[in-house]
Amino acid sequence: MASTIKILSQTLADKIAAGEVVQRPASAVKELLENSIDAKATSMTVIITNAGKSSIQVIDNGIGMDREDAELAFARHATSKIATYEDLENIRTLGFRGEALASIAAVSHVELRTRQHTADIGTKVRIEGGILQEITEEAATPGTSISLRNLFYNTPGRRNFLKSNNTEFSHIFTVIQRIALSQAKLVITFISDDETILQIRSMDVHERLKEIFGEKLAQSVFSFDQRDDFLSVNGFLGKPDFLRKTRTEQYLFLNNRYIVSRSINHAVFKAYEHLLEKGSFPFFILFLTIDPHRVDVNVHPSKMEVKFEDESSIYRYVFTTVRKALAAHDLVPMVGLDSQTPMGDRLGLISTHHSETSIQRSIDWRELVRPPEQAAEISRLRSAVSRGDDVIMHAESDEISASTSHGAPGLSPDQTKSFVDYRFPLWQVHNKYIITPIESGVMVVDQHAAHERVLYERTIARFNETTTQSQQLLFPHTIEMMPGDAALVTQLLPLLEAMGFSLKFFGKTTVILDGIPMDVKPGKEKQILQEIIDLYKEDEHNVNLEPREKLAQSYSCKAAIKAGDPLNQAEMQGLLDQLFATTIPYVCPHGRPVIVKLSLAELDRRFGRTS
Ligand code: ADP
Ligand code: MG
Repeated sequence: MASTIKILSQTLADKIAAGEVVQRPASAVKELLENSIDAKATSMTVIITNAGKSSIQVIDNGIGMDREDAELAFARHATSKIATYEDLENIRTLGFRGEALASIAAVSHVELRTRQHTADIGTKVRIEGGILQEITEEAATPGTSISLRNLFYNTPGRRNFLKSNNTEFSHIFTVIQRIALSQAKLVITFISDDETILQIRSMDVHERLKEIFGEKLAQSVFSFDQRDDFLSVNGFLGKPDFLRKTRTEQYLFLNNRYIVSRSINHAVFKAYEHLLEKGSFPFFILFLTIDPHRVDVNVHPSKMEVKFEDESSIYRYVFTTVRKALAAHDLVPMVGLDSQTPMGDRLGLISTHHSETSIQRSIDWRELVRPPEQAAEISRLRSAVSRGDDVIMHAESDEISASTSHGAPGLSPDQTKSFVDYRFPLWQVHNKYIITPIESGVMVVDQHAAHERVLYERTIARFNETTTQSQQLLFPHTIEMMPGDAALVTQLLPLLEAMGFSLKFFGKTTVILDGIPMDVKPGKEKQILQEIIDLYKEDEHNVNLEPREKLAQSYSCKAAIKAGDPLNQAEMQGLLDQLFATTIPYVCPHGRPVIVKLSLAELDRRFGRTS
């Protein structure tokens, strides 16, 4: 009886295997470019026609191949990159499986031209459907050029699955973008149907960002860099005002290989968490560098998935680094962690425990600094304050009354719209903190930080307004300035005026101040102006902040009520109202927390209560 199990013919087996590696034109482009990079090319050109369906060519200036290798390269499992299992554990190249060229050759018409730099002559290899047609000596420029035509000509099923040219083109474009980002020094040219789509020279990563994503994005990100012995991570993070509605603009590179990792994406997302609007995602580019022994890239033929030896450590490392970077840019508080935890562990740098719980632990700050991030959350907080009472009114963040009465300026509560039901008392302690019970425990607000946040957002908003509001001074001041300060004031004049300062120069260093922002307490204006300038100068070297941000920060810091300023009930109320109308009430412009919440559970724990 004839057996029913048959060994597949080599060409059929190759076609099946090819399906895993080459799913569409973009996968061929990816494999070819990765080979070029592995061949130490510094420059590569991609030429496609008909979105890669008709032809794809990749030309590089890499090391090239000799005649023998040029033929062998197309054999399945033929690779120059690893030889032993040891090597597989220590992969530093993008390729290693030795199947890309075999797969590509199995499903298309391929022509390879290659020459090593020291060789006098090159080699040409022609293969169709995996079968060698021709191998000859041929003049060639140093490097390698591989062109393939009629992709999937012999696998009609696959061919029919290809999408529209637009879609296939955009997949290819994405692949090239990722390669271009992975190593900024690569010179890349991309030509599609005779049109030059990209032509990028060697540059630094930030310039490359600009080239690929445009000026606006490049200005909306900041860089960060954390290097440690076993792990390093650097890259760019989008500022929270540059959020995306999809996850697609998240780029993760592991040892210069573009990868997809839900876990690491989640770590970044978590680090941003309370800065994000619901349904939006941060833009980021992360370059993770790790000893190849500690990661397995051989999970899938596409090599985009990886397995980390110690995923939870890496999760914490990424989370902490991103958090720190955001904090360093005044975006997130870095306190509120359990004070019993040693600092290194708090920062997630000591990898002693790898359990889920240690991950939980390291982000425990959320329990203390709870962000009222969404409307629901804010109303929860509001009703919490009113303990069960559903007296919730609405407040529009752009309509904040600015009273200039006595006491702390602009702090009287807005009678028409209150965030909190103040039948609950507010206590001021040490003329510094405002304390009030809330449903789940106690809320403590730093009055200075709170007012800073309010003034900061108001100032930023003023920069974008066309009209300015200012209080006229009955008795204008004549200020004699240091020449350097006067020059700075001249430079910042438009911004200062937008804030509400009215300044007139009288000569080069004499300034007349006759109007001040609505929030400034009259009597202190001269001092505040000088303090703003001083603080601005201190921060001048900070190239990551725009002048308007720096100015808004120094202004809000100096004009805000201070620790030590007594507040009455109405002023505290006004401050809280205004605070909860800001977009990020729980963190001051310098990244320190504004609100600390002490939960009943935490109190119970500290008092050794079990319930
Ligand atoms: P892998 O990249 O996994 O080794 P490939 O099938 O992609 O497998 O390539 C097979 C081999 O062909 C490579 O190991 C390399 O030696 C050689 N090769 C492929 N492309 C190039 C290139 N552009 N320049 C030099 N050598 C190349
Ligand atoms: Mg390869």
